[in-house]
Amino acid sequence: MGYLNTFPLSYKVQGLRIVIVGGSEEALNKTRLATKTTAQVVIISRHIEADFSTFAVEIVERGFVPSDLDSTALVFVAEESADADLAKAEARARNIPLNVVDVPAECDFYTPSIVDRAPLTVAISTEGDAPVLARLVRARIEAMLSPRIGKIASLAGGLRHKVESLIHDGAARRRYYEALVTSPAVEAAEALGQGAEAAEALLAQHASTTQASGVVWLIGAGPGSEDLLTLRAQRLLQEADVIVHDQLVPDAVVQMGRRDAEQISVGKAKGHHSFSQAQINTLIVRLANEGKKVARLKSGDPMVFGRAGEEIAALRKAGVPYQIVPGVSAALAAAADTATPVTLRKVSSGFIMATAHGADDSDLTHWAALAQSGLTLALYMGKSIASDVAARLIAHGAAPSLPVGIVVNAGRADKSTYSGTLAALAANTIAFSDGPAIIFVGEAVEAGDWANAAQLAGMSFKVA
Ligand code: SAH
Repeated sequence: MGYLNTFPLSYKVQGLRIVIVGGSEEALNKTRLATKTTAQVVIISRHIEADFSTFAVEIVERGFVPSDLDSTALVFVAEESADADLAKAEARARNIPLNVVDVPAECDFYTPSIVDRAPLTVAISTEGDAPVLARLVRARIEAMLSPRIGKIASLAGGLRHKVESLIHDGAARRRYYEALVTSPAVEAAEALGQGAEAAEALLAQHASTTQASGVVWLIGAGPGSEDLLTLRAQRLLQEADVIVHDQLVPDAVVQMGRRDAEQISVGKAKGHHSFSQAQINTLIVRLANEGKKVARLKSGDPMVFGRAGEEIAALRKAGVPYQIVPGVSAALAAAADTATPVTLRKVSSGFIMATAHGADDSDLTHWAALAQSGLTLALYMGKSIASDVAARLIAHGAAPSLPVGIVVNAGRADKSTYSGTLAALAANTIAFSDGPAIIFVGEAVEAGDWANAAQLAGMSFKVA
């Protein structure tokens, strides 16, 4: 993530002045923005040219004097003149934030694009780099937010004390507010001017229901890019009180949860000492029994090498409600990254997801036969033992010439790929880059796009 040169914040202007020096179209643009606030907006210029008549502003048609900046929160300068220079100097002397229109170097602050649903404000800034992008993003957010959402936010603000006295549990209170701002009934009532009544009715309903019990969502986080998360996963992450995640889930995905959600890393990276599976089972049951909504976030798909079986059994045994949200498993991300159809008409009639780690001779005999018959193997947890597994597959009857493709960090920006044959992998001496890997073995691998892949042991299958 990059760093910002500006700090986004909401700045208090109530009871203060916003002074705009200038009388032209640019000054009018800033007036439009400034009059969205309750500040007293003052326009100062010897030349008032634009039509300010539709705005509640004070027009001062004269030169600038220093006392113009008394009780002033912000200054905009939108003309080039001796008055403007005086105003800039005075603003700087008084440490009042200054914006000089179209002169970024002289600005203490920039004005973002604003989606205005007062009191809800969404400010979009590109620090001046890409105003067009800011406008596009703004249009999307405009479309997303009901015009009445601001009114409903005000209702929520007005009800705060009542909510606190009626609902004592923090999580339950949050559930009420969530229900309030997403309720179609409240929105419809608000449109008729009866939002307050509807909000109170909803409050009464929430106050009377006993505290909701906890739940565990087993959520697939996908291979590690935020945009390979499902919409459902994203929504539930936003709702969760606690996020219990594996080491393999990148921070960027964990951070898609609520900012105040508790985050617990339960490790489970190879070679890391961390929570045992039994401890994880106990933890998620305990959290749910405390009434919390628990997001158990696993890499890829939770049902594929995710120890979901054990966690589900523990939840069932404890009578904790649960739900499973699928995710993009690493092998599918690897197939996408390399345009490899893991099933392919007349070549591969199926696709095996298997763990290389802990595979015994009978597993290998079995897979060698499947790979020989055309099926594609996707081996998980095999990077550190890749050569060994390749040699054993050959020993158990797989053809040394079978195509192999490896994707490290599938589905992520920093992926790397390798290709060759089973024999090349068995003899491989090149070091793979850091990160988890999927190893594909089978005829269908050749149909993928491995043109940019590093060659295993200098041998390769032909690229179509
Ligand atoms: N539930 C996960 C698998 C967890 S087991 C899933 O469905 O993807 C851990 C193994 O998954 C790793 O050893 C590696 O083989 C594979 N893996 C996980 N993330 C990966 C990624 N981004 N790229 C390649 N392989 C990955």
